[in-house]
Amino acid sequence: MIVILKKNAEQQQVELFDNWLHSMGLETHKSIGENHTIVGLVGDTSRVDIESIMALDIVETVKRIQEPYKNANRKFHEQDTVITLSNGAKIGGGHFLVMAGPCSVETEEQIISVAQAVKAAGAEVLRGGAFKPRTSPYAFQGLHEEGIRLLLKAREATGLPIVTEIMDAKHLPLFEDIDIIQVGARNMQNFELLKDLGKLRKPVLIKRGMANTLQELLMSAEYVMAGGNDQVILCERGIRTFETATRNTMDLSVIPVLHQFTHLPVVVDPSHATGRWELVAPMALAGAACGADGLMIEVHNDPEHALCDGPQSLRPEKFASMMEKVRAIRPYADRSFTTGEGALG
Ligand code: PEP
Ligand code: MN
Repeated sequence: MIVILKKNAEQQQVELFDNWLHSMGLETHKSIGENHTIVGLVGDTSRVDIESIMALDIVETVKRIQEPYKNANRKFHEQDTVITLSNGAKIGGGHFLVMAGPCSVETEEQIISVAQAVKAAGAEVLRGGAFKPRTSPYAFQGLHEEGIRLLLKAREATGLPIVTEIMDAKHLPLFEDIDIIQVGARNMQNFELLKDLGKLRKPVLIKRGMANTLQELLMSAEYVMAGGNDQVILCERGIRTFETATRNTMDLSVIPVLHQFTHLPVVVDPSHATGRWELVAPMALAGAACGADGLMIEVHNDPEHALCDGPQSLRPEKFASMMEKVRAIRPYADRSFTTGEGALG
């Protein structure tokens, strides 16, 4: 971090500032020019609040050189994070993981039959919402506790670990047996929830908010990691733009960019990104080709009667054919830009 002091900064104030920085464990290097004094801060500046420096009378401008996230930062953790699930499936560091299932859990028959179908096609995690963040309070809100129970039943029947969304920390006791806890796009910056998930020692999948930058997404991961939970998976699920032809705009270039910034696994959700089932396979292939560590795909046995997100749900047979193409494209996925030549496992 570089701080430029005002021309007439009082010497006594400058010393106080210097002492304050040292008390935070930082070294300072001063360069005194004719018009300005430049102070270079050396050390871990991720905990320094840039605004409290900006607010000082003697400060003209501040520039951050180091990113404000540390735990999630590849500079401090060169190797890809690899997360291993209860069925032995892995994600990250060249391991590719597909999570698939309906938007919402509806009935026992539905969730078990979809679980069996996606497993047969090669998915290694079952997704399904029990708590649904719907835009309308009158829309189906999910089966809540019963939905969690049915997901666990589907796990028992198939052995597939479960990923499901939490909307409120007060529901955490219900999530005790859940394998991966999902934080949805609408909750990406629910910092109290993220802090509570930081106390757990189980994987958390954080979806990018529809109007959030990558730095904000990484700061959300940092919230979880700062609590000691380093099993975080990031998910690109499309952002809000001026385009209306698709539900959201799938921002695919974030995959290689995130791989440069962070060691955490990154998955792509083409279902919510496009909103239309016929666009899901092409965009899933694109995600796999540009180096994603996995996919999250909505699959429904009867999309026409789905209680949520039917138009973007693949039928099981369409999902199976998508999986074949994904497997074919995987060896060509390009990750060389992050971890050196031929680094893809
Ligand atoms: C979901 O995964 O069903 C969901 C609600 O996703 P998002 O938070 O990305 O909208
Ligand atoms: Mn959905």
